[in-house]
Amino acid sequence: MGKIIAIANQKGGVGKTTTAVNLAASMAATKRKILLIDLDPQGNATMGSGVDKYEAHATSYELLIDEKPLTEVITQQTSGKYDLVAANSDVTAVEIKLMECFARELRLRNALADYKDNYDFIIIDCPPSLNMLTVNAMAAADSVLVPMQCEYYALEGVTALMDTIEKLAAVVNPNLAIEGVLRTMYDPRNRLANDVSEQLKKHFGEKVYRTVIPRNVRLAEAPSFGEPVMYYDKASTGAKAYLALAGEMIRRSEKEKSQQVA
Ligand code: ADP
Ligand code: MG
Repeated sequence: MGKIIAIANQKGGVGKTTTAVNLAASMAATKRKILLIDLDPQGNATMGSGVDKYEAHATSYELLIDEKPLTEVITQQTSGKYDLVAANSDVTAVEIKLMECFARELRLRNALADYKDNYDFIIIDCPPSLNMLTVNAMAAADSVLVPMQCEYYALEGVTALMDTIEKLAAVVNPNLAIEGVLRTMYDPRNRLANDVSEQLKKHFGEKVYRTVIPRNVRLAEAPSFGEPVMYYDKASTGAKAYLALAGEMIRRSEKEKSQQVA
């Protein structure tokens, strides 16, 4: 059974897209079948996957508004060896168009229902706001992965986000779980980062991934070459960190599955 993970944080620049692209590529490299859905009109995950956002034959707009079947909107030629639903500025109109739609929170959920089991993981890159696109992601997802930078106000922001997730879940998706909290752009020499990290662990316990994503310039460079970092520079600390994260998540998921069976 496929698992749908939304990557969300209402704050911009915390590493959502970097995580979505590199996690998708790292999971795909373990022979798992992965779909990445770009829900951000900026289309950064699309470009980072080696797909020109203005050349894509379809985007999440066609999936959500025109209700085209998933198989017709995916792009299979990505540099990361996963399937992609692209995004570009067309997706900005989704918000307005959805206003006229029936059950508008459930569009993505319904669009994925028949295809969920074609994939091991479906990863959704959310825009940096809690708009109707993010609500659609939360309604469709099994769980939410929250990337965050360990800085002064981070904890406050993440507590507010968790609050929103809980409220949203109560309305549109009571089974929504927290997949995990990921520390991004981490600098272990920074004392504040260590303090915030400790507080995070106190607050979220096991939900905080053991894997941390270091600040690594290769991660920032790779998107301009349209490649996940593991193909741009496989020896980089960034590439190793995202491979480790994929491993940690897959182990966790398999453990959860075996506990459900038992
Ligand atoms: P978001 O999707 O949350 O807005 P991005 O993933 O686009 O965040 O990251 C914001 C910026 O920081 C981008 O320029 C990206 O390349 C860079 N970046 C993200 N993670 C790292 C990292 N671990 N090390 C260095 N730069 C990073
Ligand atoms: Mg982004």
